[in-house]
Amino acid sequence: MRGVLKVLLRAVGIGLLLLAGLALFSYVNNRMPLDYPVSDHFNGQRFTNPTLIEQISPGISDIVGMIREGRPEWPTRIENTGLPQLDADLGQDGIAVTFVNHVTFLIQMPGVTILTDPVWSERTSPVSWFGPRRVRDPGLSLDALPHVDVVLVSHNHYDHLDLATLEQLNARFSPLFLVPLGNRALLQSAGISNVKEMDWWEAHDVPSKSRVTFTPAQHSSGRGVFDRDRTLWGSFYIKRDNRSLFFGGDGGYSGQFTEIRERLGAPDIALLGIGSYVPRWFMKPLHKNPAEAVQAHLDLGATLSIGMHMGTFQLAGETFEQPFAELANALASEGIETDRFMILKEGETWLVEPQAR
Ligand SMILES: [Zn+2]
Repeated sequence: MRGVLKVLLRAVGIGLLLLAGLALFSYVNNRMPLDYPVSDHFNGQRFTNPTLIEQISPGISDIVGMIREGRPEWPTRIENTGLPQLDADLGQDGIAVTFVNHVTFLIQMPGVTILTDPVWSERTSPVSWFGPRRVRDPGLSLDALPHVDVVLVSHNHYDHLDLATLEQLNARFSPLFLVPLGNRALLQSAGISNVKEMDWWEAHDVPSKSRVTFTPAQHSSGRGVFDRDRTLWGSFYIKRDNRSLFFGGDGGYSGQFTEIRERLGAPDIALLGIGSYVPRWFMKPLHKNPAEAVQAHLDLGATLSIGMHMGTFQLAGETFEQPFAELANALASEGIETDRFMILKEGETWLVEPQAR
């Protein structure tokens, strides 16, 4: 009996030691200085949100609170009805935007093709057997993609940086990957070398005389317990000739949309998140609700906005239909026509007609 007790105590002791070691490692690792210039959004150890007085820092009580909120039932399977049109005549300055799913768009401009936050995996999770699972197929298969020149990655959350998909795109097209500061090593671990890390407001020239600027967002980052806010997040602004497109990535509402318009101009198209916003007490700094997305659309002065971050993965507490209904309400109360802020079907292509052939 005494022997069993001894073994048990030893096992508990080793377990406690391991836990303490893990906690210490996490504490030290998260405070190791990183080699980026200190700025209004980087304090030497972590990236921060200059638009927030209190940084986003979820604790145990938040996680317990989220679990207690529960989740409404989503449909388990939905068939796609969008029809892609990938060979439209873009003339000299047309834009074709095809909605794949979640925040993944295929953007075709004359001479350059760009993908945003490409996610083709079954789940947005570190493992293939657990985590949020898609309720629909991607609106386009990887095999249907035309040649891709540039891949934009807004931050490293699993529903935006899907390493398995990036690996496949790299094998097929060897595109240029534009990523926020701190993400190069992760892509390199998957054998991807054509990577450019960007800080906010940094610009990079891509094919067909297009320019991509990495613009701010109010959000967070992390793929595990050891790396919260150790890499940057943001949005992208694409400019080609007289046309421009803004990809919002992920983020809460802030004055950054006005600043982006002031510095870079009002975009022809803005791709804006309208999902994963419930419960508000937790999600508000991280994700816009549809009313805030409409305000962002107004701040940007976008000719057309397209909603995203809904309809594929259940990541928060709203019902499946809620973003669609709340967007319609928000547009009505602002007196905005529904053809100025729309939601595409997965697989559907929206064409901005060329002004010159
Ligand atoms: Zn995110």
